Parts: sequence; structure tokens; C-alpha cells
Amino acid sequence: MMLQLFSTYFHYTYDLKSSKAVRRLVSKALSKNSVSYAMVRESLRKSARDGSLRVGLSFDVDLELDIKALPWLLRELGKRQFSASFACIGQFVEKFPNEHKAIVEAGHEIMNHTYSHPFHRTLNPHKRFLELSDAEMRLEIQRCHETFEQILSVKSIGFRTPHFGGLHTFRAYPILYDLRYRYSSSTIGTRTRTLGTPFLYQGIFEIPLTPDPTDFLTCVETWKLFRAPRPIYRDESEFVRLFSILARWAVDEGASLNFYFDPIDLYNMGPAWSKIMSILIYLRNNYGYTIGAYRDIYGL
Ligand SMILES: [Zn+2]
Repeated sequence: MMLQLFSTYFHYTYDLKSSKAVRRLVSKALSKNSVSYAMVRESLRKSARDGSLRVGLSFDVDLELDIKALPWLLRELGKRQFSASFACIGQFVEKFPNEHKAIVEAGHEIMNHTYSHPFHRTLNPHKRFLELSDAEMRLEIQRCHETFEQILSVKSIGFRTPHFGGLHTFRAYPILYDLRYRYSSSTIGTRTRTLGTPFLYQGIFEIPLTPDPTDFLTCVETWKLFRAPRPIYRDESEFVRLFSILARWAVDEGASLNFYFDPIDLYNMGPAWSKIMSILIYLRNNYGYTIGAYRDIYGL
């Protein structure tokens, strides 16, 4: 009940900048304790209502370092026969066409991550995605879409808001719908009214990311390990521990999961990456989970 109230609150305040301080306060009060664990478990229990066993596997290609790690990552996924969705930036596709073509040639999906990734440290540091006007937002999405068509010969159907979560806005959906997009994966389960079950909104299928048990309004991410202003996870083993807790809860509840990763961080994780892959293979082989690109696992 409490989780339902919070998620309704967050869902309606996604677009309101004034509520940011309040959101931060609530998040701080409830995170990093057992309440947060209970919230995430409850969110998985509720999201199990759609009866599917899926793990969305996605990678955000945000940095030139991520692009350098791509050949390694494509080999790793190929070895284990996983497909995945790659959120790519138009400007980087222009600058590194061959590296991005390799993603397509390996059979993976390309998602629209906008042309310049608003609030990107080097590409577009000044504006956040949700601060763009409707016209600016349309330009960012459309220009990225056209770049994919021209350089990669790909018609993308999936979208991820730059920095997703708190910087996501549902104002993007009518634009995506006009461009014949099918889905977005830009929210965090506990911050949606459905508590994580994918939902249709303004013609776009939204697939929320799985929340972090230690901080239920954010998700499990390697950014917290390597690049947060202060490291949030102690080390790689904490990341793996949280990942395995979520896998166990998902099995117990019969719930789906949805993750995003940064390629360069995985490259730097060493053996921890293999452990993550082993957990996914275990879910696939022992519990019948369908794992991979959104396009494939949701039949979009
Ligand atoms: Zn990004």
C-alpha cells in the first residue's frame, strides 16, 4: 500500500522540477535500509502479475570508452548467445560508424538514445532532457532516428531517455508514437504506477528498469561502482550480490527483470562480469527465462 502511494506520487511528479527536493528527501529517508529492500521485493511481487519470465538486457553506449569496449562486449555476448539492446547516441554513430555497425551485424538491437544525449558531459552539458521544449525534444529524437537509418540502415523502434529515471518525461511519447516507435525503457519500476509491470502509455509500451534493493528509487548500476561522485557500492562483489538477490527474488515471485549496463564498466569489472553472466545463464537454463533484446523478448 505504502509503495503504491509513493509510486503514484512519483509517477505524477516526474515532470515537475519543483518536487525534486521533496523526492530527494523521501528517497534519502527510505533508502539503504530494510524499508528499501521491502519496497523492491514488493515491486517484483506486484510486477509478477503479467506472468512472464523475461530479463531485458541493455547497454548504454554513452562514452567513447564504452565504444572502445564494444568489440570485447560483442564477443562476450556472442559466446553466451545473448542478444541485447544497445542505446546509442546519434553523434557517436556519426563519429564511430563501423563500431556501431558491428552491433547490428552481431544481431543486436539499436535503441534511440537521442542525437546529442542532453546533459552529456562533453556532447551536450547544458540542458537536461526534460528541460527541452517539445520542438527541441522532437529534433533530438528524430535526428538520432535518421542518423541510424542513414548510417546503420536501421529503423529503431525503442527509446531510452538520456539519464532515464528522474530525467525522463512522458512528453517524449507522442513524438515517439509519431515516428512509429513501439517502446521505451526509461523509467524505474518503483517509480511507476504499475510498480514495474510494463505498461502501454500514449501508444508506447514502457518497460521499467528493475530497482536497486539498497536504494529503491534508482536501479542497480555500475555507475555507482566506478563513476558516482562518491562510490556507492563497496566493490564489485556488492554489485554481484545485489544482482543475485534480485535474481533469487524474481524466481521466487515469478517476476521479470530489466537491466542496463555501461560497457566500459563491465570491461573493468573483471571476474564479476562472468558471475553476472552465469546468473543469467542459470535463469535461462533452469527457470526458462527469456533473456535478451527488448525487441526479441517482448516480440515487438
Ligand atoms: Zn545515456
